Amino acid sequence: MPSPPTETPRREMESLDPADWEEIRRLAHRMIDDGIDHLRDVRSRPVWQDMPPAVREAFRSGLPQEPQPLAQVYDEVAASVMPYPMGNIHPRFWAWYMGCSNITGALADFLAAVQGSNLGGGNHAATLLDNQVVDWLKTMMGFPAEASGSLVSGGSMANLIGLVVARNVMAGATGVDVREEGMAAARPLCFYGSDQLHGCHRKTMETLGLGNNALRRIGTDQRLRIDCDALRARIATDRADGRHPACIIASAGTVNTGAIDDLPGLAAIARDEGLWLHVDGCIGALLAIAPDNAWRVAGLELADSIALDPHKLLHAPFEAGCVLVRDAAAHRKSFAVDSEYLQSTRRGLPSGDWLYELGLQTSRGFRALKIWMALKEHGVDKFGRLIDQTIALAGELARRVAAEETLELVVEPQLNIVCFRYRRPGLDADRLKAVNVEIMLRLQEQGTAAVSDTTVHGTHCLRAAIANYRTRPEDLALLVSETTRIGRTLAS
Ligand SMILES: *Cc1c(COP(=O)(O)O)cnc(C)c1O
Repeated sequence: MPSPPTETPRREMESLDPADWEEIRRLAHRMIDDGIDHLRDVRSRPVWQDMPPAVREAFRSGLPQEPQPLAQVYDEVAASVMPYPMGNIHPRFWAWYMGCSNITGALADFLAAVQGSNLGGGNHAATLLDNQVVDWLKTMMGFPAEASGSLVSGGSMANLIGLVVARNVMAGATGVDVREEGMAAARPLCFYGSDQLHGCHRKTMETLGLGNNALRRIGTDQRLRIDCDALRARIATDRADGRHPACIIASAGTVNTGAIDDLPGLAAIARDEGLWLHVDGCIGALLAIAPDNAWRVAGLELADSIALDPHKLLHAPFEAGCVLVRDAAAHRKSFAVDSEYLQSTRRGLPSGDWLYELGLQTSRGFRALKIWMALKEHGVDKFGRLIDQTIALAGELARRVAAEETLELVVEPQLNIVCFRYRRPGLDADRLKAVNVEIMLRLQEQGTAAVSDTTVHGTHCLRAAIANYRTRPEDLALLVSETTRIGRTLAS
């Protein structure tokens, strides 16, 4: 066994606080000024640019041993980090589906870090504020006040938490306590979703010990919504085979095309069959606050659990997801542990709510503040109108695409995701795919626009996900003209 040195030398007391508070004040003000300029001028920069070799090299330096002035460290950030972002805050970023942050959220993240509170819980203001944000999200979803919820890292974690509760409750109904006995003691549970489900559900099924095969992927109709008749049939087959149908995962906004499953229809099936209804609303749940489009997610409030993503359509800086569970007791029962080092008291710091009992994390960040401050500043209706704005822009892009001889709209958009491709006669599917991938990469490398690609019912296409509150119609016009121009160059 290693033993400590016999004599430890006495050291001066140290701390991480700066030696000169006025110096850090000046530097911090410079960072804020640079940050505000960065946002003000975002439109004038390329959406994305690749990093030169010297910048890549900078991130290979070893563990710092010697101290250096913070001003020098910040210079390095300004030179090597800030100019090379992912680009998702840029008005012409439409790749994948994500929010674009906001200045208030950024300031809130700073203040949250300054306070440094741990949202594992306890009796302090951040705990109350965290609960308040969850209450607001319940209100937005039309969920009852007695429901529970938790702010988590994102949609993947929100889905995982919701589906853990679903698994435990459904196995519990057959007399098996999964927390104590594990999945081996339970009858084989089956979960159901469409073939358009987000990839996180596969990881969840594996993590839950159910295995990927227990997730039944049901076919979708022309508009990419789950086929409810096929779902009923599959549930019946599984039951006849001695399996235990447990949970329907409805998509409120699929990642490919923004398709919204028939939520009232699925709620009816879940009720008839005695299944848990979980809604993956990472894209679409927040439509519930959009005046022109809330009707699209009617039925959301019938769910047993909902996963939603404030870092998408509420544009909270990463990370911020949220899970809501109708049965608050079932939620807590799935995660509560009686830790001797975290006992509650009637007074003092341990008398507050223990939020870590609602999920997997123990220490939790103060992610509620960035949502809370932006909602108070703008009011919830503004966020709803911004969602309507992006959906209207997607409609406009679809019209522009349809009007172009060399572009094809692959599916009529139902939300703010537009799937389209460059095409010309005489090119087979492989050539078309190669041309479209090249268009996507050139748009990115030029710094003009970021779109992604996907395959919808077998057709490869480009995909513009317009969640962005900075996008204007002229940005879409540029996307269309550059796509056709690059396509022409490639095809000739
Ligand atoms: C984004 C998304 C997720 C995953 O959410 P993260 O916040 O990226 O973890 C899950 N489902 C759908 C439909 C999504 O769009």
